[in-house]
Amino acid sequence: MALATPIIACTYAEIALKGRNRKMFLRKLINNIQIALKGEPVESVNHVESRLMVHLKDPGRAKEVTRKLQDVFGLQWLSPVVPIPRDEVDPELREDQEADREPRLTRICEVALELTAENRGDAVNFKVETRRSDRDFGLTSPEISRLVGAAIHMTTGMPAKMAHPDLMVNVLVLKENVFVFTGKVPAYGGLPFGSSGRTMVLLSGGIDSPVAAWLMMRRGSRPTFVHFYSGRDIDEADVEKIKDLVKILARYSPSALKLFLVPVVPYEMRAIGKIADSYDMVMFRRFMVKTAARLARRNSCLGLVTGDSLGQVASQTLPNLGAISSDVELPILRPLIGMDKMEITAWSKKIGAFETSILPYRDCCSIRSPKPVLTARARDLLMYSEKMELDDAVQEAMNGAVEVKIGG
Ligand code: ATP
Ligand code: MG
Repeated sequence: MALATPIIACTYAEIALKGRNRKMFLRKLINNIQIALKGEPVESVNHVESRLMVHLKDPGRAKEVTRKLQDVFGLQWLSPVVPIPRDEVDPELREDQEADREPRLTRICEVALELTAENRGDAVNFKVETRRSDRDFGLTSPEISRLVGAAIHMTTGMPAKMAHPDLMVNVLVLKENVFVFTGKVPAYGGLPFGSSGRTMVLLSGGIDSPVAAWLMMRRGSRPTFVHFYSGRDIDEADVEKIKDLVKILARYSPSALKLFLVPVVPYEMRAIGKIADSYDMVMFRRFMVKTAARLARRNSCLGLVTGDSLGQVASQTLPNLGAISSDVELPILRPLIGMDKMEITAWSKKIGAFETSILPYRDCCSIRSPKPVLTARARDLLMYSEKMELDDAVQEAMNGAVEVKIGG
């Protein structure tokens, strides 16, 4: 039977750098962990010597719990560990040292050997890495690694390999326990969800904006979403796909997320005959940004988020990006601005949004004029805004907005 791993040892990312705010970040992180693991047999989540320890009543759930922890922002590495109480290690070590003989580290070696046997797979070499959080332990980290490494080599015949080993065996010496584990599972890093304010995310049905939202969530922001749909009403617009995308993002959130569905018709009715065809795309983008900014203020959001990537399409040239939002006071955050499509697509797949993003959807941007201006000037957009009474369109769109809660 596999060795029980009743504790998942988690390291956290940048929180370590947070100085006086560290307590607040840690409290949020622990809270988010508890919510993510609701329904799992968690006994406690403690902060011990710069790590978070998730204690399980049923170690049989360790794998599934580790999977869930991977989606908690702020965590960096996760390791299901076998804890060995220090009083099963220290007396023997003292005895060996007093008798002036080679330390045996019997229990640590036993566990390391069992874990090696369990997890070795196709490995043909290995490395033992030791860290001591308790510097009073009678041996240094290299000494421990050497002893445990010798035991693994003697038993398995595998050679140790320092660079890129097939199998990593880790020993972590803490004040009350020694942890032994093989390998670390990566989490996404970042900051705890909800630790850096709210944002209003302009969510289309494409590949880019869900990734943009996710990246901002990873930086600790809580998103509220706004989607602009074409068609006379929500049923006709078929916004199930948009809801599904929010549902996917909600997996990474400890609480339900809000989505506003806003009609495009108020813009279209006023734009007809008032705007040069080539300006329709940028004016439409301006309508979206202005409406999103109004919604943001009403919902205590301190910034807008879009999936713009520089130069990807006509509305995303630098002059157009500037002109569209020349009079928007909220910061517009564009986490994808320097990424190319391949990178964005890779993220989309990684976060689980890609399959949904590529489903067919009649996005309102795809039905706009085919030859948009590439270097719009802010003053022309202001002129068109007056001419078509953009403020009224924004107000009417706000009045037609429908709020949906997703996840949680
Ligand atoms: P995406 O893959 O996110 O759809 P895109 O490459 O298709 O992006 P555009 O259509 O120019 O690019 O949109 C740029 C950004 O504008 C989107 O990433 C999104 O933030 C916002 N946006 C576009 N259409 C909508 C919409 N219908 N509702 C809300 N936001 C939108
Ligand atoms: Mg789009």
